[in-house]
Amino acid sequence: MEQVGLNVKMAEVRALCEAKGFSAEPRRIWEMLALIHSEISEASDCYKKGQPLEAVGEELIDAIIRILHLLSALGLDAEKLYQEKMAENWERPYRYGTVRGG
Ligand SMILES: [Mg+2]
Repeated sequence: MEQVGLNVKMAEVRALCEAKGFSAEPRRIWEMLALIHSEISEASDCYKKGQPLEAVGEELIDAIIRILHLLSALGLDAEKLYQEKMAENWERPYRYGTVRGG
């Protein structure tokens, strides 16, 4: 896996988590998914309560960190997946062809 883009951040997050005692063992995958949800909920709560946008952003960064940790635990190439998904999304129609929501 090439150490570029998101993969650099993913390796940094993995090193931090290992140093701080947060394992990336397969048995923790469900827990890691739930914790990503919890960070998004924290961001929603901050926004709802009118807290400074920096506080909302901090929770979103927590979510990114947890997502990068999970991608690492799954042994995935985050940068490759990101580039492929962005290329796919650029090819999609305006609002991805949805009528409601998005
Ligand atoms: Mg948080």
